Amino acid sequence: MKKKDLLKLDIASKCIHVGGHPDKETGAIMPPIYQTSTYVQESPGKHQGYEYSRSHNPTRTRLEECLAGLENAKHALVTASGLSCEMLIMHALPVGSTILCSDDVYGGTYRLFTTVFNHIHNYIFIDTTDISNVENAIKEHSVALLWLESPTNPLLKISDIQKISKIAKKNKVKTVVDNTFMSPYFQNPLDLGADIVLHSMTKYINGHSDVVGGALMLNDKKFYEKLWTLQNSTGPSQSPFDSWLVLRGVKTLAIRMEAHQKNAMKVAKWLESHPKVERVIYPGLKSHPQHKLAKKQMHGFGGMITFFLKGDIKKCKKFLSSVSMFALAESLGGVESLIEHPAIMTHASVPKKTREAIGLTDNLIRLSVGIENYNDLISDLDKAFSKI
Ligand SMILES: *Cc1c(COP(=O)(O)O)cnc(C)c1O
Repeated sequence: MKKKDLLKLDIASKCIHVGGHPDKETGAIMPPIYQTSTYVQESPGKHQGYEYSRSHNPTRTRLEECLAGLENAKHALVTASGLSCEMLIMHALPVGSTILCSDDVYGGTYRLFTTVFNHIHNYIFIDTTDISNVENAIKEHSVALLWLESPTNPLLKISDIQKISKIAKKNKVKTVVDNTFMSPYFQNPLDLGADIVLHSMTKYINGHSDVVGGALMLNDKKFYEKLWTLQNSTGPSQSPFDSWLVLRGVKTLAIRMEAHQKNAMKVAKWLESHPKVERVIYPGLKSHPQHKLAKKQMHGFGGMITFFLKGDIKKCKKFLSSVSMFALAESLGGVESLIEHPAIMTHASVPKKTREAIGLTDNLIRLSVGIENYNDLISDLDKAFSKI
């Protein structure tokens, strides 16, 4: 099929076929891993588009093609981690820029902004679920960039990407959406008006907990070229083997996301009715404060659940050490179920005061629901509850 026809296909088909063409030289149905650092030139400067693998690599090019297709973007840039994508965006802004940021972002994002780039830019953290906060901040400050995470991590707060992007555009502010939690299968921020989408491919896109990687998708060619130049100059390029693994993992994105969602819905409902649980946050539950907005801007609710246990940190620790199928680990988005304690683990870099101000308390537990059988997952949690 021609590329322009491939791009019209459903996302389940795009995951498999965009960038997935057979190898021209041999007919191999799976792409080769171009495990090479350099490329032979016919005469000085005359080559086939590849000179050095920090700059470009054919395996990575295929992955970029695929990922651009999944987010309906003209360009994609694949890097060695989600955080290096964030670094590139920060380097692309003029020194002294002001960045408006959701107040409940991934811990590593918070650390990057407040301990590394705070020497270069100004950061203002606001609750972006309330649009008037965005409007006021844009009026008060000369903002260059808006950084949204929706749903946020770990409180799963949802911001109206369409409305916020519109306000930003009017004020010549670029909008970045960290779409890691939804994956391109459940949410497409560019279609909602955002300028740049960011993914930690480490999570759902690869989906098998065996790669660290990041991707940026965007339509603005000039800004894409700037980001590429920065990647080439600073060096966080992904290795060909890791790009190959992600190409392999992403093929099953559609069925994995459906399975994550089905299981998460079952587990969330079960938790909501459990006497030892204070509150459950899952965008698919009617009790979620932005459930209506979730239904409108997402194509599904994902596999992440946050809940508050009745009790203190001691009880939480006991509970977390009593699960056996859920693995106690950071990260998310893999086929296996994970459980973690944000205050001690993923969000330890956020000061306790800041954490508690936004509701990230010590009795909060985060689940990344995998694609195992949901009855097995529920009985694992049930056993842990019976120990406390
Ligand atoms: C993991 C994660 C990141 C960082 O990605 P890495 O691949 O670990 O560098 C950024 N945002 C979110 C929402 C994440 O979950």
